[in-house]
Amino acid sequence: MENISLYRKYRPHNFDNLVGQDHIKTTLINAIKGGNVSHAYLFTGPRGTGKTSTARLVAKALTCTNLLDGFEPCGECDFCSDISEGRLIDLIEIDAASNRGIDEVRDLKEKINFAPTRAKVKIYIVDEVHMMTKEAFNALLKTLEEPPHHAYFILATTEVHKIPETIISRCQRFDFKRISIRALMTRLSFIAQKEEIEAEDGALEMISKYVDGGLRDAIGLLEQLTVEKKLSASYVQDILGVSDSSMLTAFFNAIMARDTKESLNVINELHSQGSDLKQFSHEFMDFVRTKMLQSIINEENEIAGRYLKIIEIFQEAHQKLESSIPQLPLEIAAIQTTGTFKDVNEGQGEVSNGIEKEEAIKKENVKKDRAEDAKSAEDLSSLPLTIDSLMGNWPRVVERIKTAPLRMSLMSGKPLKVEGINVVVEFDTIFHKDKVMEHSNRTELEETITRLFNSPVKISAAMKAIELKPVVEEQSDDIEKVLEIFGGGEVVG
Ligand SMILES: [Zn+2]
Repeated sequence: MENISLYRKYRPHNFDNLVGQDHIKTTLINAIKGGNVSHAYLFTGPRGTGKTSTARLVAKALTCTNLLDGFEPCGECDFCSDISEGRLIDLIEIDAASNRGIDEVRDLKEKINFAPTRAKVKIYIVDEVHMMTKEAFNALLKTLEEPPHHAYFILATTEVHKIPETIISRCQRFDFKRISIRALMTRLSFIAQKEEIEAEDGALEMISKYVDGGLRDAIGLLEQLTVEKKLSASYVQDILGVSDSSMLTAFFNAIMARDTKESLNVINELHSQGSDLKQFSHEFMDFVRTKMLQSIINEENEIAGRYLKIIEIFQEAHQKLESSIPQLPLEIAAIQTTGTFKDVNEGQGEVSNGIEKEEAIKKENVKKDRAEDAKSAEDLSSLPLTIDSLMGNWPRVVERIKTAPLRMSLMSGKPLKVEGINVVVEFDTIFHKDKVMEHSNRTELEETITRLFNSPVKISAAMKAIELKPVVEEQSDDIEKVLEIFGGGEVVG
């Protein structure tokens, strides 16, 4: 997996460079210093926030023969380097999501009493622990009730609600937080510097905002979007479909200054750049929301009220963004919030007046939207699910997806094959492919297609075959051989 190679390289090798989980770091360091590391930890939190990396750090701290300051793995002794290389026999890493994982947990109960082979302790890291079967949980529970003195467990999960309470109550639990945008940017900029990548701040910022607090995804994107040692904001913007923050600020300033003309200019510029206006309006609302919350904290009630009204109007516009003139709903919202026509509207409060009018039209539109929605759903369910019908209706599928990152990833994908209930979607990047194949995302996509076409589907994803255009002519035999070895260039996962 090329896309995580930088992540591997910059995985934290000691507590000092563990990013963004300060509360957990402090507690663990104190436990290590005091010699009272718990025999069972539960690490929960979103993907890519450092759960497995931290688990390995604990393993290092428990085995290192030369701890610095009483807690920091030295990084040089046999145990430290064996753990880094993934070859310490007394560190058993189990992926509960795999078939092998289930067997391994079953084995665990028998093998747990055997003494460690090389280290003084045995450490079990069970990843995706929520995927375990009931039997496996029972086996694990027995072990956690009375762990042998030499055994340590670190369970990691993204979905803690699926873990039985009996297991949770036997573990010390740490909730890993989404890593802040600032911390992500700092880390990315550090890596870019080390790798001699010329990275624009805007690009790092967009990536950091896009990944929803996951460092692994952020580093994966940094690697994928770097071209010839350069990471440009415009390229990141094109690929991720996110907005340039200068446009957001310009739009916000125009709205706050009640400058209708300028706000419409920004919308037009976005439109002519081919920006995704729905994404833009989403980010704009998020931007204003942050300001609103801040002003509430600061007890600036008047301005908070204005922010609230802006959000309400834009939220309305957001829902209508499939209009035949794509920029129109935003333009209307801009005009309403800048209040140019307040005199025409009988001089009432400029913004609230807009809202009242909006309210009136709102009901009608909701009715209309619902009718259209029902109609289009009907149309589709009478269509057989074929590659052509799915391809033709792909935008409809995408716009019905509620999870924003999934929707964005799907925009960069397209249907490749439909065979019975099996649908293969093709992607340009491993990042988007992986995103869509995450369990909850895949389920949402399957349900959306099923609802639209009234036909059950099972989704798998493929990477777009890499085009080997230049230099190919004379060596096509070799290329064919290579493709044969790698399964024809199409990887279905
Ligand atoms: Zn060491």
